[in-house]
Amino acid sequence: MSTRISGIGMTSQRTRLRMITRLREQGIVDEAVLNVMNEIPRHIFVEEALASRAYDDCALPIGFGQTISQPYIVARMTELLTVGKPPGKVLEIGTGCGYQTSILARLSTEVYSVERLLPLLSKARRNVRELRVMNIRFKHADGHVGIPEGAPFDAIMVTAAATHVPDALKQQLAVGGRMVVPMGTGEQFLCLIERTRSGFAEKRLDAVNFVPLLSGLS
Ligand code: SAH
Repeated sequence: MSTRISGIGMTSQRTRLRMITRLREQGIVDEAVLNVMNEIPRHIFVEEALASRAYDDCALPIGFGQTISQPYIVARMTELLTVGKPPGKVLEIGTGCGYQTSILARLSTEVYSVERLLPLLSKARRNVRELRVMNIRFKHADGHVGIPEGAPFDAIMVTAAATHVPDALKQQLAVGGRMVVPMGTGEQFLCLIERTRSGFAEKRLDAVNFVPLLSGLS
């Protein structure tokens, strides 16, 4: 393994293990989620200059005004979608640097990930290639429309804050599937949506702070 991947000092396995201990203290209980977050080197997803802060409990800039989500939020959203029922196909809206994508890829059969900013998508592609994560399909598109050709999805994760849940995404969720989406403009919260045979059940969960879900491509 290259030293860039294995890390040293503040990017070492020991630092990552401290992050896992903290996630447990914060209430993350799913061992599969904790294992994967212990295995995926978060530091390779951020700029070299910020690598020493990659395991801190905060969001960090990844360029183009976007951020990599804080470890707790990544763990929490992943747990909400995977606990008790490892998903087959997953749709992620907002690839960013590809960290959350890689975590989802290790816990499911296949991940489809959509990003509207091409330079970020290229970065994410490079990052996951370096880690040899193979079961991800990237798409440069506006996530509001989802990926109809890949539907239905067992799980959908939106990683930017929406003002409403795009109807296309609801339609692409399998019956029995779960979707987690940050909602709101000022005050935001996580919304968990489950598709049942007869409709959709929605639950309002944690207060969060995400960059906005925007329209169009760049
Ligand atoms: N999961 C990412 C978080 C990135 S921040 C990570 O771990 O790095 C949110 C991302 O959503 C940004 O990259 C932003 O460009 C993207 N985004 C915002 N609106 C979008 C849209 N309508 N379609 C696709 N991606 C979008």
